[in-house]
Amino acid sequence: PVIHIGMATCGLASGAKALHELILKEVASRNLAVKVVPTGCIGMCHNEPLVDITMPGKNRVSYRNVKPNTLTQILDAHFNKNEFAKKYAVCQISIPGAEAFAGLPMMQEIPFFKGQVKIVSKRCGMIDPLSIDDYIAMDGYKALKKVLSSMTPEQVIDEVTKSGLRGRGGGGFPTGMKWNLTRKSPGPEKYVVCNADEGDPGAFMDRSVLEGDPHSVIEGMILASFAVGHAKKGYIYCRAEYPLAIKRLQKAINDARERNFLGENILGSDLSFDLEIKEGAGAYVCGEETALLASLMGERGMPWPKPPFPAQKGVWGKPSVINNVETLANIGHIILGGGDWYASYGSEKTKGTKTFALTGSIKNTGLIEVPAGTPLREIVFSIGGGMVEKKIPFKAAQLGGPSGGCIPTSGLDTPVDFENVVSAGAIMGSGGIVIMDEAACIVDTAKFFLKFTQDESCGECTPCRVGSKIMLDILTRITEGKGQEGDLDELVRLSMYIKSNSLCGLGGAAPNPVLSTIRYFRDEYEAHIRDKR
Ligand code: SF4
Repeated sequence: PVIHIGMATCGLASGAKALHELILKEVASRNLAVKVVPTGCIGMCHNEPLVDITMPGKNRVSYRNVKPNTLTQILDAHFNKNEFAKKYAVCQISIPGAEAFAGLPMMQEIPFFKGQVKIVSKRCGMIDPLSIDDYIAMDGYKALKKVLSSMTPEQVIDEVTKSGLRGRGGGGFPTGMKWNLTRKSPGPEKYVVCNADEGDPGAFMDRSVLEGDPHSVIEGMILASFAVGHAKKGYIYCRAEYPLAIKRLQKAINDARERNFLGENILGSDLSFDLEIKEGAGAYVCGEETALLASLMGERGMPWPKPPFPAQKGVWGKPSVINNVETLANIGHIILGGGDWYASYGSEKTKGTKTFALTGSIKNTGLIEVPAGTPLREIVFSIGGGMVEKKIPFKAAQLGGPSGGCIPTSGLDTPVDFENVVSAGAIMGSGGIVIMDEAACIVDTAKFFLKFTQDESCGECTPCRVGSKIMLDILTRITEGKGQEGDLDELVRLSMYIKSNSLCGLGGAAPNPVLSTIRYFRDEYEAHIRDKR
């Protein structure tokens, strides 16, 4: 028998640490021969703490919101009565050759998982992230072995290009093209950088992957090193606010080194590559690739004008490929399944799947992975289960964090991919989706996001530094009932100016939450100004 317990940040925040200790005590006092395995997040953060039990020859049963008293009942059911505890079970997970439980839905049958396709999050919640053997047992490092034994760097790039994979950090730049540009840049010294500086409020996709399946990112980086021209060194730039992710990554790096997946002459090949984690100090702008590089090299984290692009001049002035966590974690799957297989998911211009962090006034909060182009309505009402307060209707979905925008009820049928979300006035961004109900004040929401970017502006250029401050002052006076006629026109005018004159993406996108909410909720702004409230 095996007991899995979700011990990612979401599980720990819900009491999984104490529950884990209790499980160990119960197992000892009942004298059970059971393996207790901590895992990452399976996605159902709203059901944490989650405990799964697998009895020999039977499917794995998932239990939600497990508390000390329910735990004893669950253990009694499995170990004393040879059945499952119906009252607390949420679903069963199929195990090849195992017997299914009658009367309990399969994981893929429950609404939360039904519309999901798990590629990059496939192992999250299923394996022990601290065990390299668990990773290997689920096809881990198989892509690396395939590439080293039978592929050329060009073939790897071709496969990634064929997959249509675009940067999952929000930029959406074709990954194959980025790798090719780095490969073609002259010079023998190249670098691979993983951007793990996830900073959008409400976004935790990368954290979940790092905490739940750290080896997938490491394998993606080794494959990138091979493809761009045998880069010898890679850096993972991870925000210090993710201590658990950093701890699990470091363990994964050490284990990978021990098995020669990292280091000199990897698996006997001519590829030598090693990794180092660099902790970021929490500046949002360091998620911008040039600011990230500056910080990585010990300078103040401020963006520089492009060109030169990092593919030409990156770490220590050498050609560098920078990809975010989710992008890199997809690579192994693409190499094994093939570019065409990956491209068979998704929409016309956004291939594959995308992970989203679903939060706000929604019933099923958590981490989801859907084919790109899945309608927003399906994400909110089928997977998300609709509004948490049934009587208060949906008002808007905020997509793309502080650089994104709000999509109202009329946009619920928007396919969520790079292009369609932009047409609707938001951006897909790295994948944060915050759901608001009618009780939310849309002007407060816009102010919250603008305050965030204003605080995080690095101050290098005036439109962003000063313009966003003036916009924030206007929004503040509107929400304090001191709005004036002409404020909305001034907000739009300033937005356009900041968008077109800022040096980097942070400033360029800072006005988006204001613009999209004025576009869809102008009457709400006007009511604040008119009624002085
Ligand atoms: Fe810094 Fe803002 Fe200018 Fe970007 S746009 S360089 S964050 S001041």
